[in-house]
Amino acid sequence: MSRFWSELAAGLTPYVPGEQPRGTGLVKLNTNENPYPPAPGVLEALAAVSTDQLRRYPDPQSTQLREALAQREGLLPEQVFIGNGSDEVLAHTFAGLLKHGAPLLFPDVTYSFYPVWAAMYTVDCRPIPLREDFSIDVDDYAAGQGAVLLPNPNAPTGVLLPLAEIRRLLEANPDAVVVIDEAYVDFGGESAVRLVPEYDNLLVVQTTSKARSLAGLRVGMAYGHVDLIEALVRVKDSFNSYPLDSVAQQAALASVQDEAWFRRCCDQVIATRERSAARLAEMGFDVLPSAANFLFARHPQHAAKDLFTALRERKIIVRYFDKPRISEYLRISVGTDAEMDAFCTALEDIL
Ligand code: PMP
Repeated sequence: MSRFWSELAAGLTPYVPGEQPRGTGLVKLNTNENPYPPAPGVLEALAAVSTDQLRRYPDPQSTQLREALAQREGLLPEQVFIGNGSDEVLAHTFAGLLKHGAPLLFPDVTYSFYPVWAAMYTVDCRPIPLREDFSIDVDDYAAGQGAVLLPNPNAPTGVLLPLAEIRRLLEANPDAVVVIDEAYVDFGGESAVRLVPEYDNLLVVQTTSKARSLAGLRVGMAYGHVDLIEALVRVKDSFNSYPLDSVAQQAALASVQDEAWFRRCCDQVIATRERSAARLAEMGFDVLPSAANFLFARHPQHAAKDLFTALRERKIIVRYFDKPRISEYLRISVGTDAEMDAFCTALEDIL
C-alpha cells in the first residue's frame, strides 16, 4: 500500500451501511425500508418515461417537484432544495452550512454518518450525551455562533423530540444554523417545516426513502430560508452534481401527488410497530418509545449480539451496532404484519 493511500485513509472513517442481501426467503428488517410499495402513480410515471427524457439532460432545478413540495408545505419553491437522497442533501449541508467558528453539536448516539461527514468536510464537532433514557435535552445545545444538527425522531433510538422543544432550541440559538433531519418524521412526529417561515436559521431535511417507499430512487429534500437554500444550491453547483435524474424527478412527483396512499402506508406501519412493541415487551424486552419505522430494544438476559446471530441463522436480519452505549440493543425495522410475526415467533423460539 502506498504512503499516499495511508495518509488519505487515516483521515477518513467511512460509514459501514446495513447489508443489502439479495437472497430470497429473508425477512429483511435491518435498513428501515418501507415494506409497502410506493404509490401506484409512481409505477405509472416510470412506465411513461419517454425516449426524449432519457436522451436529454434532466431539469437541473427539479422545477415541478420543487413546486409540488413547496405547495404541499405552503412555502416558495426557492425555499426547497432537492438532492439525490437526504444523504446527499446532508453532505452538501456539511460542506456549506455547518462550518463555523464554534463546533457543530449533535447527539452522541445518532445517525452514524454525521461524524463521517464532519471528518470529510473538516467540520469541528462536539457530540452531546443523550439523557439516561436516550432523550435529548435541548438545554445542552447552546451553540453560540456554531450549528446544531438533530435527527427527529433520533436514529437509531426512534425517540421523538416534541416540536415545542425544537422551538425552544431555535429561540435559544438565534445565531446558529439549526438542522433537523426528519428522515422518520412521518411515522409519528410533528414536522418542523411549519417553523421555517418563522426562523431564518432553520433547515429541515427530509427523504422519500422511508415513508414514501422510494429508497431505491434516491430523492431527498431540504426546506429553509431562501438564503440557506441558495447556499446549498451553490455547494451543489460547485460539485457539479445534478439534483435528480429525470426519471427520479417524475416518479417522486407522482408520489408527492398521492397524499392518501402515503398516509395509509404510514398508519399501517405505525399500527404494526405498536403491536410488535407490545409483543416484545411481553417477551421481557425493554423497548424505547418509537416515533419511527423501527424499534430499539434490549433484553436484560440476552446479549443483543447473540440474538442478532440467532435471528440471522433463521434468515431474519435486524441491525446490531457494536458501539458504546447501544451495543445491548437491537434495531428492528417495522415490516409487514406477517414479517413481524415471523420475527417475534423466531425470537420466542430463541429465548
Ligand atoms: N438521516 C437518517 C437519520 C437516516 O437514518 C437516513 C437513512 N439511513 C438518512 C438520513 C438518509 O436517507 P436517504 O439518503 O435514503 O434519504
